[in-house]
Amino acid sequence: MGPGGETDAARSAQYACPSAPAEPGAGLLGVLGPDGKIHNLRTLMPVDEDFLAAVRLRGAPEERMRFSNRCQTSGCSQWTGTRCGVIDRAMKEMEVPGAPPADSLPPCSIRGSCRWFAQNGPKACHTCAFIVTDTRQMSVAAV
Ligand code: SF4
Repeated sequence: MGPGGETDAARSAQYACPSAPAEPGAGLLGVLGPDGKIHNLRTLMPVDEDFLAAVRLRGAPEERMRFSNRCQTSGCSQWTGTRCGVIDRAMKEMEVPGAPPADSLPPCSIRGSCRWFAQNGPKACHTCAFIVTDTRQMSVAAV
């Protein structure tokens, strides 16, 4: 609990999740390209049900797009108790060598609040483009 009565979880939830479910209120962060990588939009695009309904005609939106929303911390199955497990696992599996120079980072509309960037720094950004949201372990609804 912080001095203002704010819990650690509440402070954590101020971050943005870069791999959120496709639902109204989320923002379209990036789109999967033919090279197999996620290409971020310059600006986060808010999505609504009409947009998602159109996208779902061709299958699960998360299979070819990435969405951002508020980090749910303990309301998400990927939360380890102190951090997001998704980017930790992905970075371990991909073993991106060295720290990329800051000026080579891919464009990103949420870097200032991104949970993965705050947690793992610039290396997260070079792993991020290869991550497709796993809809089998989607965030659980906050209660
Ligand atoms: S990890 Fe980097 S590129 Fe990916 S969403 Fe976060 S700030 Fe953007």
